[in-house]
Amino acid sequence: MRLWSRPRPCRRVMLCLWLLILALSVATLALMDLVFRDQTQTPPNSPRRPFQRLSGPPDLEVIVDSWDRLKQEHNLGLAPLSSLQEDQLLFVPSTQVRNPAPPPRKGSYRMVISSAKKESAVPVLPTHGDMGRPVRLKLEGLERDMEKSALQKYGFNELVSERISLHRRLPEARHPSCLVERYSESLPSASVVICFHDEAWSTLLRTVHSVLDTAPKEYLREVLLVDDLSQHGHLKSVLSEYVLLLEGVRLVRSTWRLGVAGCRSLGAARAVGEVLVFMDSHCECHRGWLEPLLERVAQDRTRVVSPIIDVIDWQTFQYNATQWPHRGVFDWRLDFNWETLSQQENQDSPVEPVQSPALVGVVLAIDRHFFQSVGGYDPGMLFWGAEQMELSIRVWLCGGSMEVVPCSRVAHLGRHHQPYTLPDQDILQRNKIRIADTWLDAFRKIYYKRDTLAHFIRQSESPNITELVRLKKRLGCRNFHWFLTNVYPDLYIPQDRPSLSGELYNVGTGYCADYPGGRGAQGATMDIAPCSGNGYQHCELNSMGEVRWGPAGRLCFHAQGERVVLTPCPAHQPPRNKPQWRVIKLSGQVVHLQTQRCLEAVKEEGDKQQRDTGGHQRGGNATQKGLFLRPCAHQPRQQWHFEQLVVPKGA
Ligand code: UDP
Ligand code: MN
Repeated sequence: MRLWSRPRPCRRVMLCLWLLILALSVATLALMDLVFRDQTQTPPNSPRRPFQRLSGPPDLEVIVDSWDRLKQEHNLGLAPLSSLQEDQLLFVPSTQVRNPAPPPRKGSYRMVISSAKKESAVPVLPTHGDMGRPVRLKLEGLERDMEKSALQKYGFNELVSERISLHRRLPEARHPSCLVERYSESLPSASVVICFHDEAWSTLLRTVHSVLDTAPKEYLREVLLVDDLSQHGHLKSVLSEYVLLLEGVRLVRSTWRLGVAGCRSLGAARAVGEVLVFMDSHCECHRGWLEPLLERVAQDRTRVVSPIIDVIDWQTFQYNATQWPHRGVFDWRLDFNWETLSQQENQDSPVEPVQSPALVGVVLAIDRHFFQSVGGYDPGMLFWGAEQMELSIRVWLCGGSMEVVPCSRVAHLGRHHQPYTLPDQDILQRNKIRIADTWLDAFRKIYYKRDTLAHFIRQSESPNITELVRLKKRLGCRNFHWFLTNVYPDLYIPQDRPSLSGELYNVGTGYCADYPGGRGAQGATMDIAPCSGNGYQHCELNSMGEVRWGPAGRLCFHAQGERVVLTPCPAHQPPRNKPQWRVIKLSGQVVHLQTQRCLEAVKEEGDKQQRDTGGHQRGGNATQKGLFLRPCAHQPRQQWHFEQLVVPKGA
């Protein structure tokens, strides 16, 4: 008995020691994997070593840009736009040019590395299992930190994106009538141009694969990736090597930061397809998205078309279908918005495209020759912002049209914030100034009043728009009045009368009328806030007795009980004898005519103020602030001035 029992504690200790060593090694390995995975940026859904050379010859065409190809393009008369000098361009060198036998295809395109087609998500963290609680907690903390830094770096939760297949299929969202639509047998070929600057690996590659997986091979001439001087390591040689293995995908790199407009122009100059499809580097295409777009362009080569842009959530990567019908519009700050239309406004069938005063560049199909003939993107548009607004106005004024095609859907990642820094905070304003000065004619004053920063920049410098103006003349483009009459008659044209427009300043509080609910929402109560001076608080009392608010002038002051709320202004102007508001010049009071009450600013509701306003009852809500309608009294909180911030020069 004793002989057998003696070694037992010793063996148990040894066993425990071994188990401990084993557990520690597993934990160390998992931690090292986490730490180094971030450094190498290798996504789980892609081959871990995409740059490992295959021992035999690759069984796919090697896709590169070479000088030979460039020369060919020049001979075709498709010289790059004058703004792009050759020395700005750097091409991925051709390392192996061969003509391999076409590989057997699955679907429309095939990728050479089979592991990249893995559908399953690779778990990143061992959250279950043998690991002790402290280690797990530490790893969870680490994951949170990684999520935070990924969010900061990209503007979305890249860790979630990494776990999603590069080939995921979006749920069906098209109208049933779209599924039975028939398209011409011979549609024009398309070049999908994807510009990117420091895009995450997973979102960039999901965009590329999504195009390859959904676009019919007979219409997809190429996917052209254009690198706008990215700095992230994974977009360097790793990407070049990966692209070499994808059939029909080319990569062009710029050695200068071109910005969105310049980058797309470079892509356009290098593309060979009949139709250009510009696409952001974080999109996912729906089945059957390309054919409806090509069909509309084939019918009329001056038509510029967009799919319905669905939304991918930046946090969860969930797909959200956008409601139809809608169209793209803009306001007097030249900011773009999607405007939802009522079903009545779209009496035609649910598969009928809707004309759009403007479109975004997220996904945009345009005939290549029409694009070049209309002048392409304005090369003066720097880095990011408003380039698409400029193209939209130019297309309309110079002989084209724009529309959203509802049977085509592409989802775009709606980012939390813009991740890259722009070299100059005023870039957007500078780009908009180009639009205002080139295309808005006398209406540009309306813009400058609503964007005071742009006004001040414009006072000290003039944009160089000589080329653009020359182009406008050469193409015989129409004027902006024509645009407002024929393309966008619903855009309210402000009167901006001198003492009846500007920031609505309250003498008693020193604050201005303000709308905290954002710049396009409706229905919420009006507030007061420190005067911003930037033009966002601009409003006007027009000759119809409406107080129009905001850069679109689409929302009006409206009395709701004793509060002032914003509601959509009536589509048909109220008759002149029924104005809603009037300003009494001497007292500075703004009177609501139906109730005969005066506009009063309330900063902090308290007993003293209540006494001052004649003991008016406010239902016991002691902390409300904002714009109220109160019995008229001569006191500063009912005294208002429309403060003109800037006086732009005449037309
Ligand atoms: N982009 C670029 N150069 C830049 C800024 C952006 O090539 O200087 C690319 C970017 O990677 C994206 C597209 O242009 O694919 C549009 O930019 P972004 O997605 O930031 O615009 P948003 O969708 O936020 O309007
Ligand atoms: Mn985008």
